[in-house]
Amino acid sequence: MKCENHVVNQILDAYKPMWSLNHAISLMGWDFETYMPRKGTEERGIADSQLHLLHKDLLLNKDFVGLVESAKKLESLSDLEKGIVRVLNREITKQTKIPKELTEAESLESIRGNMVWREAREKSDFMMYASHLKNMIEIKKQIAEKIGYEKHPYDALLDLFEEELTVDDLDKVFGALTPRIQKILKKLVDLGSPFCKESKLEKSKYDIQRVEELNHDVLALLQYDMKRFRMDVSTHPFTETMGLNDVRITTRYEGTDFKKSISSTIHEAGHALYDLQCDQSLSITPLEGGSSLALHESQSRFWENIVGRSLPFVQLIAPLIRKQVSLANQATDDELYVYFNNVKADYIRVDADEVTYNLHIALRYEIEKKIFADELSVSEIPEFWNNRMEQLLGVRPTKDSQGVLQDTHWSSGLFGYFPTYTLGNLVSAIIASKMRKDLEDYEEDIKRGNFKPIRDWLRLKIHQYGSVYAPKILLRNALNESYNPDYFVTYIETKYLGS
Ligand code: MG
Repeated sequence: MKCENHVVNQILDAYKPMWSLNHAISLMGWDFETYMPRKGTEERGIADSQLHLLHKDLLLNKDFVGLVESAKKLESLSDLEKGIVRVLNREITKQTKIPKELTEAESLESIRGNMVWREAREKSDFMMYASHLKNMIEIKKQIAEKIGYEKHPYDALLDLFEEELTVDDLDKVFGALTPRIQKILKKLVDLGSPFCKESKLEKSKYDIQRVEELNHDVLALLQYDMKRFRMDVSTHPFTETMGLNDVRITTRYEGTDFKKSISSTIHEAGHALYDLQCDQSLSITPLEGGSSLALHESQSRFWENIVGRSLPFVQLIAPLIRKQVSLANQATDDELYVYFNNVKADYIRVDADEVTYNLHIALRYEIEKKIFADELSVSEIPEFWNNRMEQLLGVRPTKDSQGVLQDTHWSSGLFGYFPTYTLGNLVSAIIASKMRKDLEDYEEDIKRGNFKPIRDWLRLKIHQYGSVYAPKILLRNALNESYNPDYFVTYIETKYLGS
């Protein structure tokens, strides 16, 4: 692309090798998770870290930093040019403020810690992993100090994942969200809601090849262009974007409970669509792809939950399901709908339904906030976790693998990441509410498999801009909203309690 401003054009030229390194790193990452022979791990690790170092050298090159610095002072830049400068400036600032020793310590600890965490989770033994968690927290505390913050050390870490997100924002979000969701959950259980009854389909085994076909049928219904997109298999599904015309997802096949595979497919495809519908003029610039993790998650959750678990969508795919899953061939549309929307307060976040999911995040948010306020020591975390989980969800883990050891995030240094999941859920509900006002035939369209109006709406309001705007600005511009939990609560109430 060419910009009006010649400094920004120079920046874009100099950025191309960095983009190319990212391209290679992404492709290597995708390969690592899908097809790479296991013994290649160590060599791949070296190649990956070397490419990251090269990228950092290019980014912090004096001339390049000088260009970005002079562009910062320019007035009358277009929104797009401002976006380029903003994104690169954030990246440079982050890399400059965090000293090399800390970056190295973090990556070393995340490799070691992650290995020990895996074993500890298997043995359900928190104490085995505690010293690594303590090391990682120490490193992250030092990083927070280096980055700097106004009010809360945790703010520094939150901003790394979601631009300008603060503890103040999240206290407001969870303060309003958590008690209302707890109330809805209690009502559902007290009423003996059909959503709370376990479906026999959950235990059903399926033929992996046939559910694979089913997933491809679903993607075809959603009109994915297989010339710019592909789907493979991995244990933990993910989306990897090489560039705006090569976006790849993976899905999972566990052999039982087929909704997990379909939902993963639709979730990741939702992430992919954000990048696929980004304006092509942003290709090979720092503005490719989504504005933030929360905005990205809003897209995956919108498709997975709000579309994918809606009655019209279940009705649309029901014939495909009956064709491929033998145990489901007698199930009615309503039975399938209840199966897709089963609600159960349980221990494990990744298996949580859309009613209880954010309570899992609220728990992690409280713990992370306390850790970085020096209000909770490592040895106190398991007990705090179990107590708080019992208060929030009404279930108490009996072993660490059901509790504090379930997620990989902390062992990889991802403190401040969890809240973006909840923000994504909240934004998905805002989107649905605004979209329904604009699209008269919204439900009919889903039922008939006409997704073009929905895709176009998302493209025009959100996708096309890539990361031109910071998330809070994009939310205001596109949806006239903030991370407001009201829409989500109303969505859940209406769907599950019919009020
Ligand atoms: Mg996701």
